[in-house]
Amino acid sequence: MKVIIGSSVLELVQGDITTQETEAIANAANSGLRGGGGVDGAIHRAGGPAIMAECRKIGGCPTGHAVLTTGGNLKAKYVIHAVGPIYRGGNRGEAELLKSAYLSCLKIASEKGIKSIAFPSISTGVYGYPIDEASRIALTTVWDYLLEHPEIELVRFVLFGDTNYVAYEKTLKQIARERGA
Ligand code: ADP
Repeated sequence: MKVIIGSSVLELVQGDITTQETEAIANAANSGLRGGGGVDGAIHRAGGPAIMAECRKIGGCPTGHAVLTTGGNLKAKYVIHAVGPIYRGGNRGEAELLKSAYLSCLKIASEKGIKSIAFPSISTGVYGYPIDEASRIALTTVWDYLLEHPEIELVRFVLFGDTNYVAYEKTLKQIARERGA
């Protein structure tokens, strides 16, 4: 599914983020930038040791923020490591932190002149964020940002598996309807 926002494209695809040809891909990292399972492990495996070498130098990243490294052997030139919140019931600032994680990535992209970025569904795996809520935060944050920032031409959400894709598609359709798009 694809929506045009201003002069930019917001797109949902089902697939593997490590094979994307966008200029940057985002990672759902942990605050120690130590790698791990899920999408984080997949990105480090596919991108090779240069990514971890830069993560070690940077040392860490607080929840709700993001840092940039090389893309190593990936097709993407950069990886933007975002640290989403662990979901603890929804009353511990999770929504703000998740929004802030996406915004940090987008701001880094704007600053670096990165025109296309792919996102995984941050926090909805091991970190336990319910996907209906998380997808609404992810998609509204990106939508609002693109309205103000035409320098980013493409944001692609790369959803792993059918269930995740369907959840994001449902939310994006709802948002588009609410916004008359
Ligand atoms: P978090 O710790 O932020 O919850 P996870 O990696 O556990 O991060 O999960 C985040 C999302 O990434 C989940 O929806 C998971 O299915 C998805 N995912 C796992 N591997 C990949 C991949 N190779 N490409 C895209 N998404 C992936």
